[in-house]
Amino acid sequence: MQEKKKLSLATQIFIALVLAIIVGLLMGNHADAANSYIKPFGTIFLNLIKFIVVPIVLFSIMCGIISMRDVRKVGSIGLKTVVYYLCTTAVAIVIGLVGGNLFKGLFPVIATTDLTYEAAESTTLMDTIVNIFPSNFVSPLVNANMLQIIVMALLLGFAIVLVGEKNVMVVNAFNDLNDIFMKCMEMILKLSPVGVFCLLCPVIAENGPAIIGSLAMVLLTAYICYFVHALVVYSLTVRAMGGLSPIKFFKGMMPAILFAFSSASSVGTLPLNMECTQKLGASKEVSSFVLPLGATINMDGTAIYQGVCAIFIAACYGIQLTLPQMITIVLTATLASIGTAGVPGAGMVMLAMVLTSVGLPVDGIALVAGVDRIFDMGRTTVNITGDACCSLIVSNLEKKKSA
Ligand code: ASP
Repeated sequence: MQEKKKLSLATQIFIALVLAIIVGLLMGNHADAANSYIKPFGTIFLNLIKFIVVPIVLFSIMCGIISMRDVRKVGSIGLKTVVYYLCTTAVAIVIGLVGGNLFKGLFPVIATTDLTYEAAESTTLMDTIVNIFPSNFVSPLVNANMLQIIVMALLLGFAIVLVGEKNVMVVNAFNDLNDIFMKCMEMILKLSPVGVFCLLCPVIAENGPAIIGSLAMVLLTAYICYFVHALVVYSLTVRAMGGLSPIKFFKGMMPAILFAFSSASSVGTLPLNMECTQKLGASKEVSSFVLPLGATINMDGTAIYQGVCAIFIAACYGIQLTLPQMITIVLTATLASIGTAGVPGAGMVMLAMVLTSVGLPVDGIALVAGVDRIFDMGRTTVNITGDACCSLIVSNLEKKKSA
């Protein structure tokens, strides 16, 4: 007991992850039991995270803006953030496409004749943009629509700053509420090792080594690209602009990384990501603004996955993608990743948009759907690491500016 208390959260999550893999493999023949008896506890944990994430995003962005007390400062932080997010996502998709092309020869060619994939109602780019703006004060909160919540938080935060001193009572109240929800979050996060075990074990039991078999090369390619992106782009930028050693960065991020890997949800990882980045030195006002935004719009891992899968699906259909088509993929995947929700499986839905943009059959998604969760675990890990990197960089740049 005494011993356990000393273990850091990262170590506890890591132990839970290893145990989940071992137990999951052992339960390979009893996936039903894992789904019936272990998964529900994972769902309870995810429900608690979902419960806390809406107030956390709303209040942390609002309080972040209020604490800056200056509309121009928010603008300058917002601009840096969005530029970093867009550029790294574009680089990510290029890495995905290059990796896909390099390893294409090793991909299996799966027959595509009887494929069907029930694509969710496809959303156009314009729909995605229109849907960012809420038409109702309550529904974004009820439906946990993160982009709409961000717009609400920005509007309210700016309004409070502009109305100024008169708002003292409300500012105190919001800051208090923010503290209370953060405390709730801390309590929920203490359960994360158990949550991680219960979420991951059924996935391993169900997917086991067999299903991975035929798609092993595609999965491996995606994971190589995830690693390259994290090690090259994040290490370089965090060192050059964040003033932090990459080793320290990845070490400090370990709890969030392990959690993202097991939960496959950027939004779910948000609370832990805030804790890790603040421990690494990101200022609270910056990270409370940059991270919720990133968990919603910045998806580098998802972009990589879309690049690799587009190449794989094209190859199965015997289609050779041309350079202009690849450029179209870079653009659409960058935009699609903005519209991707930070929840498990969302990236696969947005893959439909990317495939359609270059005339590839949407049915091709069925080829990768079976192992989506395995792709998802890696892409979510990259997604949240990118958010963290950005918050440290912006925070460092702001500190330098005001020094
Ligand atoms: N699960 C991913 C995330 O939460 C999104 C995706 O499916 O690509 O970041």
